[in-house]
Amino acid sequence: MSTGRVNPDRINADRINDKVTGLILAGGQGRRMGGVDKGLQMFRGKRLVDHVYARLAPQVGGIIINANQNHDAYKTFGVRVVSDAIGNFAGPLAGLHAGLSVSRRPYLATVPCDSPFVPEDLVERLMARLNESGAAIAVATTGGRPEPVFCLVRRSVLESLTIFLKSGGRKVYDWYASLPLVEVDFDDQAEAFSNINTREELASFEAGMTQKETTAAATAVAPVTAAAAAVERLSPPSAAAPTDVVSRDTLARTATRDALARVVSCLDDYDPNALKVEKAREVIRSFLTPVATNEKISVRAALGRVLGEDIISTLDVPAHDNSAMDGYALRHADLKPAQDTELRIAGSAFAGRQFAGKLGKRECVRIMTGAVMPQGADTVVIQEIVQIEGDKVRIPAGQKRGQNRRLAGEDLAAGKPALKAGQLVGPAGLGLIASLGMAEVSVRRRLRVAFFSTGDELASVGSVLKPGEVYDSNRYTLYGMLSRLNCDVIDMGVVRDDPASLERALQTAAADADAIITSGGVSVGEADFIRELLAKLGEVVFWKIAMKPGRPMAFGKIAHAGNEAHFFGLPGNPVAVMVTFYQFVRDALLALSGRTDDYALPLLQVPCTCSIKKNPGRTEFQRGRLARDERGQWSVCPAGAQGSGVLRSMAEANCFIVLEHERGSVSPGEPVQVQLFDGLI
Ligand code: AMP
Ligand code: MG
Repeated sequence: MSTGRVNPDRINADRINDKVTGLILAGGQGRRMGGVDKGLQMFRGKRLVDHVYARLAPQVGGIIINANQNHDAYKTFGVRVVSDAIGNFAGPLAGLHAGLSVSRRPYLATVPCDSPFVPEDLVERLMARLNESGAAIAVATTGGRPEPVFCLVRRSVLESLTIFLKSGGRKVYDWYASLPLVEVDFDDQAEAFSNINTREELASFEAGMTQKETTAAATAVAPVTAAAAAVERLSPPSAAAPTDVVSRDTLARTATRDALARVVSCLDDYDPNALKVEKAREVIRSFLTPVATNEKISVRAALGRVLGEDIISTLDVPAHDNSAMDGYALRHADLKPAQDTELRIAGSAFAGRQFAGKLGKRECVRIMTGAVMPQGADTVVIQEIVQIEGDKVRIPAGQKRGQNRRLAGEDLAAGKPALKAGQLVGPAGLGLIASLGMAEVSVRRRLRVAFFSTGDELASVGSVLKPGEVYDSNRYTLYGMLSRLNCDVIDMGVVRDDPASLERALQTAAADADAIITSGGVSVGEADFIRELLAKLGEVVFWKIAMKPGRPMAFGKIAHAGNEAHFFGLPGNPVAVMVTFYQFVRDALLALSGRTDDYALPLLQVPCTCSIKKNPGRTEFQRGRLARDERGQWSVCPAGAQGSGVLRSMAEANCFIVLEHERGSVSPGEPVQVQLFDGLI
């Protein structure tokens, strides 16, 4: 490969490239390199950013560098250096936003500062497909996966990006999803997208050169194929595939890396091998990043969604003073305090048809529920207690001023919040929104949850069971539970117990989802290789929780291709999956989906009619059946066999009997706490 076109001093002024500004993203924190400024790290005798600049400059009309520190060091190119406008280190979209805000050319091409082998025809190929397709953004892909920070965008996307960032969005894929996007295949030079995230990676690339290219050492950038060769040579056959050595997660929100280790190290009483239920909940709670992107949808579609913004009332509800009853509207001052009063009926008022005139002295108006109060009237007397004589009504003494009248704005006053951001929209919320005349409402985007079952013994429904196989039921249970929570579900099927398949599945899920749920494979015998795998892909802790059922569980985050997903590794036993889901995952998903109202499941106390054996030292979640006895009193009893694989008793139960950590056996008649499976709304 020739390096003849690489000329850092030549910025094109006369070709299509003049329409393109190149943006080098150097605004990260370089966490995985120990918090250094990555662009300034030395590699083959030059800084990483020098390599990138040299590759990008010939392809564009000018360059901007996005950096959040060491501006002087980046200014050596004599180009504009810009910081993020929305807080430092907020991720690549913040860098893109900063670049787009100052760029004047109609297109902008981005590359990361840690990819020294940027393809020499990157911009040309992205441009060809962008124009051909009319899309707003062209993204390079390798091996079918996007390289999300190697892209070409039209300047016009600035507005959509600004709105996205303002609404709290940070994830590259979320923003991409809102745009017409075209992918451009670069499989022919996949290695050119390699990026250098860690000191080890930096060292392996250096070593690759010293072993093979001593003669080329003085020249600027080594051919990309040499880098790939270096990776292959330096990876022992049993270790990770090349893509792991050269990690692709440039975009990963590295700020959260190591955070889980920090959280658990700060906890008193943290024992991963006998973790109390409440402690596990505490760790999970403190490690969640809720979605922040909003979308506008029609009112009906908002049922079960989380409000993205406060709903501020634009009008008074009700809009006018009106009658709460059928009767007679009158002026209270006309009534005699201690005697009946006779008033003349001046007309009538119906809901939707108001009395046109004004009440004269000692007059009243026949009024129906919901009708606007006539001018001058302040009180309604119900029809049942009056006497009618011709066009006169006799009103008994003892009426209170303002009775049976609803005041304008009594339900909701203009300018006041009717519903708060973070609240779930239920049937009442739908009605309330409609009562304000709103046709659309802003809600958080749905949470994307990917899930799969693991196990060599699992057979899919519809197939014939071979000896030793069981049907995969967990995926159906999970589908049901996730659908009830109104998540977007990504069913990834069954994954075999082999490291390569699991790694692929986890990476695919991590690139796309907000949360990943797996079942099986976290029990003692199986945890080891998964533990190694997960340590490579992200940050995950393994727990033995002091509970029954559902002892083993893993939790953390996994990053891939610029996205980071929360990870819940549930046990394999079907009931343990449901119990751990409801006791840990449910609340976590609701928090992730943006809920800020109180969504804790209520615990109710009822007598238990049976005896239950239990030892103190773990929390038990027995399947129970809450029922009424002949006197109409509610009580509970365990529902059938309690083995952690017995799904049938789960299907027969209608509640969990929650037996607290310290509690011993239960005798008949003792009160216990229950958690209902079904809610009213
Ligand atoms: P594991 O946690 O993978 O050791 O699995 C524990 C038990 O749960 C084993 O008996 C598995 O066969 C069973 N199991 C695991 N995954 C599933 C599944 N998806 N559907 C039904 N049973 C499962
Ligand atoms: Mg298994």
